[in-house]
Amino acid sequence: MRVGIDAGGTLVKVAYSEDSGIRFAKYPIAEIERVAEWINGLKDAEVCVTGGKSGVLKSFLAESVGEMVEFEATRLGVQFLLVQMGRSDDAYLVTNVGTGTSIHCIQGNMQERLGGTGIGGGTLIGLSHLLTGLTDFDEIVRLASQGSRERIDLKVKHIYEGKEPPISGELTASNFGQNLFSVSGDLSKEELLATVIGLVGETVSTISVQAARHCRSSTIIYIGSSFIGNSLLKEVVESYTILRGSTPLFLENGEFSGAVGAMISL
Ligand code: ATP
Ligand code: MG
Repeated sequence: MRVGIDAGGTLVKVAYSEDSGIRFAKYPIAEIERVAEWINGLKDAEVCVTGGKSGVLKSFLAESVGEMVEFEATRLGVQFLLVQMGRSDDAYLVTNVGTGTSIHCIQGNMQERLGGTGIGGGTLIGLSHLLTGLTDFDEIVRLASQGSRERIDLKVKHIYEGKEPPISGELTASNFGQNLFSVSGDLSKEELLATVIGLVGETVSTISVQAARHCRSSTIIYIGSSFIGNSLLKEVVESYTILRGSTPLFLENGEFSGAVGAMISL
């Protein structure tokens, strides 16, 4: 059996080969020792690890394993998952919205990191928690999908009152930018959470589209666990990316790209 593991800042992603195909699993980083125990109990397994916490994982392993740089594992995994989706792209951007966000330009077998932002999945959970007290990702995402950003985000049209704006009035001029002093006690969790997701989605898509200027392609492939079950984040990212002239693609099982890349490198 071949096993690829991507131990990230928040989640450990596992991809392993079985006769029936590739199997996937994910665990909170706090359970990294459990993942190590599982690997230690495997017979005749080839293992390759990647990600920022791969050193921690290795320290719990009984035998030596392969290791690869996260960006290279992600490139390999994305390429593989694209083929699984029946696509044959060979130039695109990859935006990985993990705990933080990292943007890469891929052309054939070359990858270059174009940049990133500290606004990512960690921001989504952290800000949501500070604003609402919630801790569970699935619950945050579920409530956010029922909320409106109308009373919190300031749109261009709000500034250009009674005047035609030079850009779409529907664009966000300032996330959390409305005069909130008078309504702060009155805002629902749903509204606050929807606005947090708007902030994260608009930031990662805006800088991705800007980065696309430095890449041959304008297809942006979005991956990372922040999109799991998170149709609101996908909607925000998709519409902003299209609005700014690029083509978004959400990769099936994209959050496992690094783990898949580590696995197929064996
Ligand atoms: P990095 O690549 O930045 O080191 P990572 O690889 O751990 O981090 P991902 O697993 O791609 O990052 O994404 C982590 C984000 O996914 C979290 O910040 C959170 O927003 C979201 N997420 C999805 N499911 C969960 C979950 N069950 N528990 C916690 N966060 C989750
Ligand atoms: Mg990661």
